[in-house]
Amino acid sequence: MVIEYMGDILRAEVAMRKELLYKAKNRPAYMFRVDSERVIDATRSGSPARYINHSCSPNCVAEVVTFERGHKIIISAARRIERGEELCYDYKLIPVADQSKIPCHCGAANCRKWIN
Ligand SMILES: [Zn+2]
Repeated sequence: MVIEYMGDILRAEVAMRKELLYKAKNRPAYMFRVDSERVIDATRSGSPARYINHSCSPNCVAEVVTFERGHKIIISAARRIERGEELCYDYKLIPVADQSKIPCHCGAANCRKWIN
């Protein structure tokens, strides 16, 4: 385990409204979709895990771990990580239509060119 992705757990509808609010305030939004109903909003009270970038060839993996009282997002090493190496994981975002695609700049040989 490297770090837990922490933040406020929101229903998906609430998270969508908050994301629009952050955009309107020109504030970056840090969110992690747990499943179709829940999103972790790390924008205000998240752990440093919110700064981990996406990569198509990541050195970490994000896993949803289920506990009796809910879920936790655990970022774990997928291989040996060298000192000073940037942490990254595959965001596994759902592919979307062309106009809202986010370009990927991970630089991996197998880069998919888009994050979503
Ligand atoms: Zn990439």
